[in-house]
Amino acid sequence: MGKQTMKHYDVIIVGGGINGCGLLRDLALNGAKTLLIDKGDFSSQTSQGSSKMLHGGIRYLENLDFGLVKEALEEKNLWLRLTPHLCFEREFYLPLYRYSKHAPWMLQFGLYLYDFLSHFQNKPHAWLGAEDALKKMPSLDSKGLKGAGKYFDGIVDDAKLALECLYDGLIEEGNEALSYHEVIKTTQLQNGYQVDIKDLFTGEIFSNTCEFLVFTTGPFTDTLLPKLNIPWTPQLVPSKGIHLWLKPDTIKTEGSIVLTTKDNRVVFVIPQRDSILVGTTETQVCEEIFNIQAQEKEITYLLNVLQQYFPHASINRDSIISTFAAVRPLAKEESSNQNLGKVSRHHKIYRPTSHTYVMIGGKYTTFRRMTQELAQEIVPRLGLRYKPNLTLNPLRQHSVMPTFGKKPELSLEMVKKIITTERVKTMEDLIRRRLSMIESTEGLDTIMGIPLEDIKPLLKR
Ligand SMILES: Cc1cc2nc3c(=O)[nH]c(=O)nc-3n(C[C@H](O)[C@H](O)[C@H](O)COP(=O)(O)OP(=O)(O)OC[C@H]3O[C@@H](n4cnc5c(N)ncnc54)[C@H](O)[C@@H]3O)c2cc1C
Repeated sequence: MGKQTMKHYDVIIVGGGINGCGLLRDLALNGAKTLLIDKGDFSSQTSQGSSKMLHGGIRYLENLDFGLVKEALEEKNLWLRLTPHLCFEREFYLPLYRYSKHAPWMLQFGLYLYDFLSHFQNKPHAWLGAEDALKKMPSLDSKGLKGAGKYFDGIVDDAKLALECLYDGLIEEGNEALSYHEVIKTTQLQNGYQVDIKDLFTGEIFSNTCEFLVFTTGPFTDTLLPKLNIPWTPQLVPSKGIHLWLKPDTIKTEGSIVLTTKDNRVVFVIPQRDSILVGTTETQVCEEIFNIQAQEKEITYLLNVLQQYFPHASINRDSIISTFAAVRPLAKEESSNQNLGKVSRHHKIYRPTSHTYVMIGGKYTTFRRMTQELAQEIVPRLGLRYKPNLTLNPLRQHSVMPTFGKKPELSLEMVKKIITTERVKTMEDLIRRRLSMIESTEGLDTIMGIPLEDIKPLLKR
């Protein structure tokens, strides 16, 4: 065991994606002393590999899932108000072709319902005839085009929102977060758990105790819990999605485009960050899922879809700036585990032992509602009063480098500040998640004009 003295926390959270970071914030604001542990950087897995949309999910209307859509739209509009530096609203176009399964009137009805469920907080939808649609999306295939529905959703820096939730929670005294630390053993105590933790940089092993142990480990949950002797039967249906960042001039469009492919998949084309984000595929996962990468055949699939819908644009491998992948942590519908069964079928909270909670499923957009449900359960068990409105306050610590809009010129002083105040441990943490750069990091010798050699000494741990 290492030199660190054993500390006691009310709650230890394992997994620092959006759900872990959001939960730490909610618990900390409500007075629960909480430690968050992640085996990599915070928000370095699924929560930085999403399609980066804050959305109600127009597709779920087809499943008559109005409750989920309404909740997600409320959350989308909340974050658009609370964190305008991390997200913005933009128009989405849904083109309809002669072969599309929906008639224009059906689409228009769906779009009306979408605005209605947002309490008309969404900017209003519209229907564009083929000619007007092509003016907005000049690269789109015109053959058989009937027109396009227009509606509004949010674009978010997914990694940054999770990080800023974490920073906000850590402002409250007595809370802590450790990246690049792995939980290697859990021992059940009479009133909680002892958790053995390994520092993945130094190899040091130390222990802390807690009253409640919570897993927000997303797609990693099914493999992790049995290793830690937590009673658990697999609950996930993993599905992999990849994205491409394309050069900005590849496709000419004024807004985002939602394509429903002939094999009935949905591919988004979303201009942002001086680039165009394209995704996603849905494939079975056959590989290691930590730091998962896009495979050649998945990239080819997306390029083929693009070539089909934008036949006059020149889209090929050279159009790609970088790629990324993630695994959807979808929860199985039917469950034999101790499902608390309190919410929609899209996320689930389990209590495998009296002092353990597990939360999986759901979507990024609704993380605050999901973590609220869990915090509401835990906080009173700690003898504290839960106040649901605290998470409606603005986040208090913003990242030094904004993602959208005009970026300030990066200086070495700013890099120093980012490293010391934003829990940066590696160059990848800095480039990918604090500076929100999309370029591949391979072979980079400067970062936004600063030589890598000047930054490396600042990262010495
Ligand atoms: C392709 C794709 C597109 C999506 N698009 C959208 C979208 O546009 N909008 C939307 O609302 N939702 C979207 N989602 C869903 C959304 O991304 C997820 O619901 C959300 O990010 C899940 O967050 P999480 O915190 O549960 O998991 P994660 O972000 O994966 O966090 C789990 C954390 O656990 C850590 N961990 C794993 N093992 C250990 C261990 N042994 N010890 C310590 N830590 C560990 C990992 O490092 C990781 O940081 C998308 C998902 C995918 C896959």
